[in-house]
Amino acid sequence: MSETVVVIGAGPAGMMAAGKAAERGKKVILVEKNRNVGKKLLITGKGRCNITNNTDVEGIINNIAGNGIFLYSSLYSFSNRDIIDFFEKKGLKTKVERGGRVFPVSDKSEDVVKVLYKHCLDNGVRLVTSCSANGLELDNGKVKGVLTGKKKIECDCAVIATGGKSYQATGSNGDGYRLAKEAGHDIIAPKPSLVPLVSGDAFIKELQGLSLRNIEVKFFNSAKNMIYKDFGEMIFTHFGISGPVILSGSRFIGAKGVKNAYVLIDLKPALDMLKLDKRIQRDFEKYSGKQFKNSLGDLLPSGLIPVIVGFSGIDEKKKVNQITRAERLALGKLLKAFKVNIKGTRPINEAIVTAGGVKTDQIDPATMESKKVKGLFFAGEVIDVDGYTGGYNLTIAFSTGFCAGINC
Ligand SMILES: Cc1cc2nc3c(=O)[nH]c(=O)nc-3n(C[C@H](O)[C@H](O)[C@H](O)COP(=O)(O)OP(=O)(O)OC[C@H]3O[C@@H](n4cnc5c(N)ncnc54)[C@H](O)[C@@H]3O)c2cc1C
Repeated sequence: MSETVVVIGAGPAGMMAAGKAAERGKKVILVEKNRNVGKKLLITGKGRCNITNNTDVEGIINNIAGNGIFLYSSLYSFSNRDIIDFFEKKGLKTKVERGGRVFPVSDKSEDVVKVLYKHCLDNGVRLVTSCSANGLELDNGKVKGVLTGKKKIECDCAVIATGGKSYQATGSNGDGYRLAKEAGHDIIAPKPSLVPLVSGDAFIKELQGLSLRNIEVKFFNSAKNMIYKDFGEMIFTHFGISGPVILSGSRFIGAKGVKNAYVLIDLKPALDMLKLDKRIQRDFEKYSGKQFKNSLGDLLPSGLIPVIVGFSGIDEKKKVNQITRAERLALGKLLKAFKVNIKGTRPINEAIVTAGGVKTDQIDPATMESKKVKGLFFAGEVIDVDGYTGGYNLTIAFSTGFCAGINC
């Protein structure tokens, strides 16, 4: 008789694992608490699903902010290229966009869900929806069954693929951490990653809706040590700051906030201080007869000008040809290091991914099997790994899901 595998959670990691295990002849039962599979997957990439990234394995590892090294084995078993092949072979055409982001040509995440669903059904996976796993039965350090309500599903292996703790309405509410903990694993405290930052600065509301491109951000802690640096796009919101470069750095701030953290925005990263000063001088010559507040239109987006003027210490009505060299140099400094004070992050429920999870040194990176409980495997966001934006988190889910599926 073939061995029975219970996979808990029908997200990308769980569906990949279930389909692969069934393909190998295992009797697979996939348990999902929602009525439908892939609820979070449907909202990924703003409904377009950024499946993976078109880089190499090193490129993937470099974009895993937490515990990338743990993923070498699984990525060499099932890489980003294999992920693209997997979907293409199943009829889902893909395309590469800015920054190597891979999307379905259809721009529809539901097409990705359909492929994974079919991958399960075609291989004979038994899907049980509206069913929550709430315990594991162990015997002598080995998995014996999965408990759902009052029922027990007997099995030889179980895969915990329950996701993280964010966007809880999608079903990922941290159940997997409890299951893993009860089975004797340590959990690195879950914290929000890829989450907007909250600022108490009064000027933030004035800038709400303003997006900035080609800027550089540097994150600092209270000891004035730089904890993160990035280049790209960001946006001001009613509560603080968001957008790609802010989300990527947010894991270094943490849920409670690094006390007195702040972000310095370099509004002109392509120009060093000398070149920027020359540029400002040119603009000041061009607008020499105008008031200061009307002289920055070539340099800055209009929404930002009143705030910069306010912080510059230069009277907004001062004639440009009366601005002193010291005032001009101070303006240059302000443009190279515009400060936003940070109080913390938005709540974990608003985070795109959860950092933290099952401690990686308690999982065999080559198989995804627990080192503590025989027959227990982990896949996806429940593990203490998290990536930046760009398709890296789904890469983690697919790659670790595949690895669990071929080893369980
Ligand atoms: C808004 C948003 C956009 C995103 N966009 C992208 C993107 O474009 N590209 C990218 O790479 N990443 C993206 N991510 C991150 C990505 O969606 C996740 O990292 C990924 O879904 C994790 O996959 P998973 O299978 O581990 O967990 P999940 O997708 O969270 O799936 C876990 C499943 O387990 C089920 N479950 C939980 N507990 C139980 C239980 N006790 N019993 C039974 N079932 C249970 C849940 O209902 C859920 O269906 C995005 C995330 C969000 C929130």
